[in-house]
Amino acid sequence: MPRLLPGTLLLLGAATQLHAQHPLTPRITATLAARESALIAFRHDLHQHPELSGQEERTAGLVAARLRALGFTVRTGVGGHGVVALLTGGKPGPVVAFRADMDAVPSTDPDPAPYRSLVPGVRHICGHDIHTTLGLALAEAFAAVRMELPGKLLLIFQPAEERASGAAAMLQDSLFSLARPAAIYAVHTAPLEVGRLGSEPGPFFAGRDRVAITLTGDSGLAAAVDSARALIAASATITLAQARGALAPGFVLAEVGPVAGTGRERVVWGTLSIADPAARERTRARLERAVRALARPGLTATLRYEARAIPGVLNDSLMVVHADARLRALLGDSAVVRTGVVPPLFSEDFGAYDRVAPTAMYLLGVSNRARGWVGMPHTAGYMADDAAIVLGARAMAEVLLGRLSGG
Ligand SMILES: [Zn+2]
Repeated sequence: MPRLLPGTLLLLGAATQLHAQHPLTPRITATLAARESALIAFRHDLHQHPELSGQEERTAGLVAARLRALGFTVRTGVGGHGVVALLTGGKPGPVVAFRADMDAVPSTDPDPAPYRSLVPGVRHICGHDIHTTLGLALAEAFAAVRMELPGKLLLIFQPAEERASGAAAMLQDSLFSLARPAAIYAVHTAPLEVGRLGSEPGPFFAGRDRVAITLTGDSGLAAAVDSARALIAASATITLAQARGALAPGFVLAEVGPVAGTGRERVVWGTLSIADPAARERTRARLERAVRALARPGLTATLRYEARAIPGVLNDSLMVVHADARLRALLGDSAVVRTGVVPPLFSEDFGAYDRVAPTAMYLLGVSNRARGWVGMPHTAGYMADDAAIVLGARAMAEVLLGRLSGG
C-alpha cells in the first residue's frame, strides 16, 4: 500500500519549526559521553567474535546480561537467539521500539580493522556489531533517565537478518508479548560520512516477491514453460547490470528459474525485486492476466504470487518527517540527508515488522574518508568508525524520545 501521504511537505515545514531538543537530551548526551569508551570496547569484542545467522548465541548472551543489569525486563531465545527487552518509564506514555540485528557475514577477505575478526571466514562487514552496540547504548541512555521517561522503550535484538528470516521467526515467537509498540525504528550502517544520517519516506529497501507458475497438461508443456519463463522475464524494467547502482524506487528486477516438476506438471519459479508498492501491484496484475492467457484446452496455468517473501523496507512517511525534524534540531540541517534512491541488489527483513506497527529505518554514516575508511556493506574493505555508535545513539534517542513524548 502506498505510504506517501499528501501534504508531507507542509508537515515537514511545520515539524521543523515545532521541534526543539527534548528536555531529557542533555542527560542522555552526558550518559553516552561517559559510556563511550566502554561501548567502543564492547563493539570491538563483538567484531572480534562474529557469529553467522542463527548462531548468535554469544552475542545474545552478552546483550541479555547487560540489559538485565540495566533493569530491563528481558526475554531470550525469541525466534532463535533473539533478545527482547522492555524498560518501563516512570511516567505514562506509548511504547516505542528500536530494532538492532546481531549476525555477521561469511567472508574470507582479510579484515583491515585493528580489532580484527578472530573467527576464520566470518566478519562483521554489514555493521551489525555497530547496530547491536548502538542498541545497548540506547539501553544505557534510557535507563539513566528512567524515572522521567514517558512511556516504555522496547529493544529488539534480532538474529538471522542476513538470511532474511530472523524478523519473521521473532514475530512467530510472540515477539511483542512484553509490549506492543506504536512505532518501530532501526538504523543500518552506510557509506555516508560519520555524523550523517539519511532516510526517505516510503520505499527504502526493495523486497523480494516469489512467483510460481504451475502448468498442468498432457501436451505442449515444454512450449508453455518457455512462455512462462518469458512472462516472468518480461516483468523486469531494469537489467542486472543496471541494478548494480542505486535507482529511483519504481524498478522491477526479475530472476527466472528454476523449473520443477515431472509428468504432466511443471512449476516455473521466479523472483522479483521491487521497492515501490504501486510497481508491485502493477506487476502482479499484469502477471495474473498473462498467466490466465496461457491456459488453453488441455493445459491449465495458475499463478502463485508471494509478495514481500523478503519484506524489504517501507518507511512510514510521517515517522520520517518527524524524525528528520528532530534530527535537524539536534545535529544541524547538513547532518540529515534524503537518500532518494534504492539499491536493487540489497534487501532487509526489517519490513516484516510493518504488519504490526509503522516502521522507519535510517542509514547511519560510518565512513571516515580522511582515514580511508568506507563503510560499504558486504565489501571486503568494510570499515566503520567507532564514533558512529554514540552519534547514532544520540540521534536515535532523540527520535525515540520525540515519539514517546507524542511527536
Ligand atoms: Zn545488514
